[in-house]
Amino acid sequence: MKDYYEILGVSRDADSEEIKKAYRKLAIQYHPDRNPNNKEAENKFKELSEAYSVLSDNAKRAQYDQFGRVDDMDSGFNFSSSPFEDIFSQFSSVFGDIFGDQAYGDSANRPQKGEDIRINLNIDFKEAVFGAEKTITIKKKKVCSSCGGSGAEKGGLETCSYCKGMGEVIYSQGFLSVRKTCPKCNGKGKIITKKCSSCHGVGYVYEEESLTVKIMQGIDNGNIIKVRGRGNPGVNDGPSGDLYIYINVAEHDFFKRDGRDIHIQVPISIAQASLGASLKIPTIWGEHEIQIPPGTQDGKQFKIKHKGVEMSGVRGDEIVHIKVEIPKKLTQRQKEILMEFAEESGEKLNYKDSILDKFKNIFK
Ligand SMILES: [Zn+2]
Ligand SMILES: [Zn+2]
Repeated sequence: MKDYYEILGVSRDADSEEIKKAYRKLAIQYHPDRNPNNKEAENKFKELSEAYSVLSDNAKRAQYDQFGRVDDMDSGFNFSSSPFEDIFSQFSSVFGDIFGDQAYGDSANRPQKGEDIRINLNIDFKEAVFGAEKTITIKKKKVCSSCGGSGAEKGGLETCSYCKGMGEVIYSQGFLSVRKTCPKCNGKGKIITKKCSSCHGVGYVYEEESLTVKIMQGIDNGNIIKVRGRGNPGVNDGPSGDLYIYINVAEHDFFKRDGRDIHIQVPISIAQASLGASLKIPTIWGEHEIQIPPGTQDGKQFKIKHKGVEMSGVRGDEIVHIKVEIPKKLTQRQKEILMEFAEESGEKLNYKDSILDKFKNIFK
């Protein structure tokens, strides 16, 4: 049982103002309204109230000082009579609680949120564009059923003597006192003397869990889906962590995506480019016919409106990139026609010399 000064974190010669201040600060911190469903905080709050009711009453306090509960300070730290304690309370009343929300000695049992789980999920282009449902399997920590998470066999758990079960110890550094996680029990407040054979003392086992995840329409490469509460279980009744799914979308053979827009490269012949043509273009929503005008140049872009990716009810466009293909092999007849074409254009076909003439002086 902790003593009343220790509970309030004040020294034995603290005056009534100090006691009041300490109580107010801790009582606010552990007030049940601020810590819903937290049994630990509730107990702490009751302890605080009890301690204050005695120490704030001079008669009760005197009696307590003379006969009251003397702790079995057998080893390690004697918190209540430590001079650090006094410094600490002065320090925090002047500078505020620079050590954060950590209450005096509660780290061993403070509820903690479970760890998050992160996984990668590969999906194909179509699943990303139209949405999908995927079943995934995650490896999740589960509280060991043999030991209930303590990591110890029955009777194999002892209160840490170094920190007296509080999980924290106070060190002095110059004129400051600093609270640190107990090095002996790593903040757990308890020491395992006989490890649980099922979990080898860690308190949890891994279990595979399958869940179905809805991939919303329009999800993109690099997006992250957060599934709240599906991570690892919390500690001391803390909430579960979250699950983060990192989306990796496979590339498509033809379609390239840029946000809501889709880009596609469409090869056409020189005849189509020169004369104009009607082209059937694939889109993610089916084929779409476009007219390209005579004299369409290589690299020219055409926009097909509202044939892109739909996200939150808004659809992007498809951008068609024209690639004019120069034939690599010509039949004799095609050659003749092209020669004739050149002649008609007033072109000299063997103009190798004239090109050399043209660039002859370029490096001079
Ligand atoms: Zn300890
Ligand atoms: Zn176990």
